[in-house]
Amino acid sequence: MTDPAAPGLPHVLILGGTAEARELAGALAGTGVRVTSSLAGRVAAPRLPVGEVRVGGFGGVAGLVGWMRAHGVDVLVDATHPFAEAMSANAAGAAAATGVPLLALRRPGWAPQDGDVWHRVGSLDEAADALPGLGRRVFLTTGRMGLARFAHLDALWFLVRSVDAPEGPRPPRMEMLLDRGPFTLDGERALLAAHRIDVLVTKDSGAAATAPKLTAAREAGVPVVLVTRPPAPVGVATVPGPAEAVAWLRERLG
Ligand code: NAP
Repeated sequence: MTDPAAPGLPHVLILGGTAEARELAGALAGTGVRVTSSLAGRVAAPRLPVGEVRVGGFGGVAGLVGWMRAHGVDVLVDATHPFAEAMSANAAGAAAATGVPLLALRRPGWAPQDGDVWHRVGSLDEAADALPGLGRRVFLTTGRMGLARFAHLDALWFLVRSVDAPEGPRPPRMEMLLDRGPFTLDGERALLAAHRIDVLVTKDSGAAATAPKLTAAREAGVPVVLVTRPPAPVGVATVPGPAEAVAWLRERLG
């Protein structure tokens, strides 16, 4: 395949929105490949990877296929967040339609340690159902997009942390904390204590940058409602980190 913008250089399209996607783009810079990172455009001021960046949806599988063909993409890397289910399905569909190799970069989920009290649930709705039986002062870290799922819980108080301010329905009794990781253990301990948090809700993102809240919860005896990951598309080659992704790409691209 010929890359119209950089003839002769193999073109890697990274579907991003994660720290690992940025790390991979950085690791590939100057290694004889053209790299384009793609962001959904959800965050107002995203941390940008080095190199070329495009922003916004492609328009489903057909749109992604069209973009890949127009820009001569040789390898597709799905380095989206483990909960970005639609984009991962689109990536698998576009790879199948074009014959372009697809690699999924998916960091492992968190593993429980002694002292953790984790309640695994399959969705945000299930998390909302579980909350009244577990606590009254909730630290909610599942992102602003799903906040509406908790809007009916008017007997509970919420500390909601997200990168950008939420829109739409929200719980009536809540305080908003606009912040983004990495977070420190001392900071998380202080947050739980200051707000007298008695239950934490998180997605199993597996990210190191947001893991200290789990340690702080364990130390404080605070139960955690852990939303488990949606299934990844089947049959897609998967690596756990940027270093393994670079090795896989080297093997593919020489
Ligand atoms: P999603 O539900 O899987 O995707 C919805 C639509 O957004 C996709 O169909 C696609 O639109 C567009 N999209 C998603 N990721 C894209 C990307 N990297 N480049 C271009 N378009 C993209 O995704 P989401 O859960 O809303 O997450 C959006 C982005 O935020 C992802 O890139 C993800 O890595 C990041 N993120 C998500 C979470 C989370 O908890 N879900 C947390 C942190 C970061 P078209 O169909 O029009 O192409």
